[in-house]
Amino acid sequence: MSGWIAVAGLGPGDDAMVTPQVRDVLAQATDVIGYIPYVARVAPREGLTLHPTDNRVELDRALHALQLAASGARVVIVSSGDPGVFAMASALFEAVEAHPEYIETEISVLPGITAMLAAAAAAGAPLGHDFCAINLSDNLKPWEMVEKRLRLAAQADFAMAFYNPRSKSRPHQFGRTLEILREEQGPDVLITFARAVSTKDEVLKTVTLGEATPEMADMRTVVLVGNSATRRVGRYVYTPRSAS
Ligand code: SAH
Repeated sequence: MSGWIAVAGLGPGDDAMVTPQVRDVLAQATDVIGYIPYVARVAPREGLTLHPTDNRVELDRALHALQLAASGARVVIVSSGDPGVFAMASALFEAVEAHPEYIETEISVLPGITAMLAAAAAAGAPLGHDFCAINLSDNLKPWEMVEKRLRLAAQADFAMAFYNPRSKSRPHQFGRTLEILREEQGPDVLITFARAVSTKDEVLKTVTLGEATPEMADMRTVVLVGNSATRRVGRYVYTPRSAS
């Protein structure tokens, strides 16, 4: 029997946000591969081998999945949120490109609810008009590129979602991010810090850019920045659908 690979998104944390499609594919799997905390979200059962691995080994992980599938395994690579958003789906295709002997592998990508959409829903509708998503980590791209994209997106008055906003290994960059936003957008634009959305640790906090401090974000936070029209209504934050 020939194997296959499914790259599946587990959503932001709440089991109720795992799609039925992802549940079905996990029920058929012989092997589950992924970063330790994501694999920990998959219930063990007989006939299923869990392969938790450390972060930053995406290409090794992808190659391992390809090897297992070639030997007949039904492999699910798990990501949090959506697997196509700063996650394993691209890493898998990169591995296939580098190892063309696996080009015929049957691969499916199963979407999940990404952090920014779960966070936006919890806050109201801050991404209700045009928006963009930026990964603030400079692990895989130069910091100058991050700054350029931030500045141009702010000038274009996009609402924005920031993934990987701040880590211990790069403590200053999020402060710089806030500085650039204040330069381009002024102090009054709303910014929402959404931490551990849909888990028991969830905390949402909305302030103005003038009030925002770097400590408000960590690696479990997705940050949503409004456009110039984003406003509060009661306890919600929303961006009108028309530009004004
Ligand atoms: N593929 C994932 C993103 C992986 S990058 C997705 O689609 O959501 C990891 C970053 O995602 C974190 O640093 C954080 O910015 C964000 N993130 C993931 N889960 C989150 C959650 N439950 N609440 C808030 N942010 C989250």
